[in-house]
Amino acid sequence: MTRVISKQSGQTWFPVIGLEVHCQLRTRTKLFCGCANEFGAEPNTQVCPVCSGQPGALPVMNSRALELALRAAVALDCDVAPWSKFDRKNYFYCDLPKGYQISQFDRPYCTGGGIELASGKRIALTRIHLEDDAGKAIHDRGPDTLVDLNRAGIPLIESVTEPDLTNADEAFEYLTRLKEIFQYIGASDCDMEKGSLRCDVNISVRLEGEELRTKVELKNLNSFRNVKAAIDYEIQRQIEAWENPDETAHPVQETRLYDTNRGVTRTMRAKEDAHDYRYFPDPDLPELHVSAEQLERIRRELPELPAARRARYAEQFELSEYDASVLASEREVADYFELAVRGSGRAKETANWITNELLSARNERGPETKLEELGVSAEALAEMIELIAAGTLSKSAGRKVLAAMIETGKRAGVLVVELGLEQVQDTGQLEEWCRAALVGQDKAIADIRDGQQKAIGALIGQVMKASAGKADPAKAREILLRFVQEHG
Ligand SMILES: [Zn+2]
Repeated sequence: MTRVISKQSGQTWFPVIGLEVHCQLRTRTKLFCGCANEFGAEPNTQVCPVCSGQPGALPVMNSRALELALRAAVALDCDVAPWSKFDRKNYFYCDLPKGYQISQFDRPYCTGGGIELASGKRIALTRIHLEDDAGKAIHDRGPDTLVDLNRAGIPLIESVTEPDLTNADEAFEYLTRLKEIFQYIGASDCDMEKGSLRCDVNISVRLEGEELRTKVELKNLNSFRNVKAAIDYEIQRQIEAWENPDETAHPVQETRLYDTNRGVTRTMRAKEDAHDYRYFPDPDLPELHVSAEQLERIRRELPELPAARRARYAEQFELSEYDASVLASEREVADYFELAVRGSGRAKETANWITNELLSARNERGPETKLEELGVSAEALAEMIELIAAGTLSKSAGRKVLAAMIETGKRAGVLVVELGLEQVQDTGQLEEWCRAALVGQDKAIADIRDGQQKAIGALIGQVMKASAGKADPAKAREILLRFVQEHG
């Protein structure tokens, strides 16, 4: 439990936070019609009578959307309802041509479930429900509001947590885990920049032993970093407002927006404007039935999830918690790692090459880049690691070879020869480099004779430099030690 001590009064406050996360499902078509579910098309080109709300048009449920929604439910350990139904959530806005959103009110398709944080604390889910997205109103291009209905009707799942979170870090971790899982199971891209993951925060504070105070909703949080910053700001704002002796300054039930430029939240709409959605069952859609067999199949087909992989990597491959976590957080990277280990038989080295070299090279190309686009297959990486293990290639030369593999798409064996990077094991050549490294190093030589082992490291460094990374460092060490003993 996180406690916040007020700077003004010294009183202890407890923040209470719940999250509502909307994720667009990665289907080919929309939830109730055949229009494409694809980001970035010309405005209003993916629209039909159903998703633009024409009279008499009838919705037909997309079974793929249900399949993906069920995967999410199973992955989060939710209880899937054998039957659920769709309801109309009525409100008026220019991006909602039907005049209502098709959602699930009192019978969502699943309830319960949750996500465990690294601390072992479990964040419980209240429910997940299915609904269709609204269109998009665009206010910032000239004096008029423009409407794009391409988004209208895209399938969403909204997952709602219990008020189990107590600080911004927990919220950040919960969102990171949720995103990992949804991406792993192919349910959603969870790309906040494209709006395929959107997060609202409910937040209030209470004093020890007292009731919860008024709840405030935060909207328009377009990155996990902003979620974190907005929560931190809002906790302080509410505490200060409650401690204000002027009661009219106390927090009120409202929706607030996070202003990213100023780092503050401000009122979007007060409670008086709260909607009465007049929910009622959608008469055009049948109930949703899910059989035990269907659920069982989905459970069987689900991939191993990130938390399980992290634990297995630490156990089976003896990787550090950090390495296991980096490798397991994306399915593509995790699958690549496992394939490369199968080839090289060396888990720790493989993990290092991926986390230190390949992922940095990928990140340099931008956040959207896939590992695959670097053009180094898992087998090719395994080959390079074997060359190092066999002594053909030094580690530092390996870095050059890997960079060249990314650049040219050639295999390591070819590049070692082309770049002349084969590790030098020839004693005569090594002795020459070692002799040169010892010139004028009387102090280092004396230190080594005194048993100060770290002095040898600097000399090996000299040899590696002189050989442009091609010397075998183990052999260089042997020769240097022999020379030191023989010296005078
Ligand atoms: Zn349509």
